[in-house]
Amino acid sequence: MSHTPTVAIVGSGPIGSAYARVILEGSPDARVVMFEAGPQLTSVPGESVRNIADPVEKARAREMSQGPQSGAFRESLGIPAGVVVEGMFTARQGTHLLDFGGPGSAHAPTFPAAAAATNVGGQGAHWTCAIPRPAFSEKVDFIDDGEWDELITAAESLLHAQHAAFSDSPIGSAIRTLLDREFGAELPEGYGVGTLPVAGDPQPDGSMVWAGANTVLGPLIEQGTPESARFELRDLTLVRRVEHEGGEVTGVTIEDLRTRQTSFFPADVVVVAADAFRSPQLLWASGIRPPALGRYLTEHHVVITTVALDEERMSVLVSDEDFENELARRAVNAADPVAAVNRIPFSEPDHPVSLQVMYAENPPFQLDPSHPAAGNRWGYVNMGYGVRKHPRVEDGVSFDDTELDYRGFPNMTIEYALTDAEQPELDEAHARVRRAAEALGTFVAEPRLLPNGSSLHYMGTLRMGPADDGTSVADPWSRVWGYENLVVGGNALIPTANTMNPTLMSVAIAVRGARRVVEQLSGTRVEEVAR
Ligand code: FAD
Repeated sequence: MSHTPTVAIVGSGPIGSAYARVILEGSPDARVVMFEAGPQLTSVPGESVRNIADPVEKARAREMSQGPQSGAFRESLGIPAGVVVEGMFTARQGTHLLDFGGPGSAHAPTFPAAAAATNVGGQGAHWTCAIPRPAFSEKVDFIDDGEWDELITAAESLLHAQHAAFSDSPIGSAIRTLLDREFGAELPEGYGVGTLPVAGDPQPDGSMVWAGANTVLGPLIEQGTPESARFELRDLTLVRRVEHEGGEVTGVTIEDLRTRQTSFFPADVVVVAADAFRSPQLLWASGIRPPALGRYLTEHHVVITTVALDEERMSVLVSDEDFENELARRAVNAADPVAAVNRIPFSEPDHPVSLQVMYAENPPFQLDPSHPAAGNRWGYVNMGYGVRKHPRVEDGVSFDDTELDYRGFPNMTIEYALTDAEQPELDEAHARVRRAAEALGTFVAEPRLLPNGSSLHYMGTLRMGPADDGTSVADPWSRVWGYENLVVGGNALIPTANTMNPTLMSVAIAVRGARRVVEQLSGTRVEEVAR
């Protein structure tokens, strides 16, 4: 009997989806089965909830993603009601805090905003879709520049990158002009004020259909395609263990959360893409415990503010007619608050931070009607500087075999601290955000550093490295050191200090790993030289 090469993927976010797509398009005989602990939110698997126009449906989809904090939908996730206790931070809609404060909660007093999403599409059903390219020291230095550019281009194609989204917005353009007047002369060629690349498909009415895991899956979820016949997505299915023997993975033990039945699913290759905390937790629970597992945790810290755009300055740059047209365009899609996205990217050595500027007609919080900026006709910008965290072995997540979390996994404790290494760039971010705010209008919210974990971009806990020297978990093709057929994916692979949204970079790393799996499945191994 002939054997169908089978790949099991843990997690249905953008990274698991990138693996599924590249493997199925490259291996005409293989099948892929993707296991997702959370529920499917809409009829299109992995779709961004931002595309849901009905506010009630949108709120329901977000609540269903919130794992232990999923309210009325908790039972559908197989989580007993008793575990939910409000933590001191509120998670972003669609996500749930890891340290939620009740029985089975993780412990993260120094990283309190750490959060996850548990649903088909993962965090990629809730993300903002900003996909800047990593630059300078943000890139992985053991992948050469030529290959890196090609991988990033492939990742941009999977995510439907738009480099000039909302570039025709006159308000967005005026914001760029004001920022350029303030900062332009200090910024190097090619790294000045510009539009922020985003993932999605612009529509004729000027709105966006935002990208989710469905965009990455593409033909795998289209009826009648050859790839869809070889792809299966099982939602509400928790992977409990990666099974292995003698350095070889044999499959996964899964639990159907609807029936509570546990079974073994055999696989030739297992890809774990279950986010930067739950992937290392699953490896730990499976007895796969390289020394760097969970260590070197980084994120990019965010110094944030909200500003009311200044009428006098804006009205010089935007005619009344253009402004009215823009408002009319916005009214067509009132459910989507984002109207223009701009940025100043990271560059070295003089601009080691990155600025993201989102324009919206309303502030992100309720503004007291007596506030002088309430009802500002020209709208608001929410903007934040990303500040890098330099990797240290001391920062990370550890697991306790004697205390189980609400899912029955070894519980997590996150240890994390900002040090003197970050302080100068945090100070710089504060100074720059003030300058940016003064260039655009008046503060509605004073600049502040968000609590640790707020970026939702957690990196380093499965870091890749050029050599198995104890400081990395995965090789340059994302395989766990010592396990040829165990691949890991996600932001956790990123070994560098970063200021930007990491998903594009993680998809690029996944494309490289997936191509290697294709070669492995076809038996045509290329000569490997770690660079
Ligand atoms: P995830 O998307 O987190 O998916 C992992 C999946 O694995 C989850 O669905 C989880 O339920 C599942 N899982 C976990 N454990 C198991 C198990 N044992 N068995 C089965 N399934 C399991 N990034 C950017 O680059 N740009 C942005 O603008 C941006 N904005 C964001 C805004 C918000 C509000 C949020 C929440 C995130 C944002 N991100 C952004 C982050 C981005 O969404 C993530 O980088 C991306 O989703 C990571 O993809 P992933 O596939 O690695 O993991």
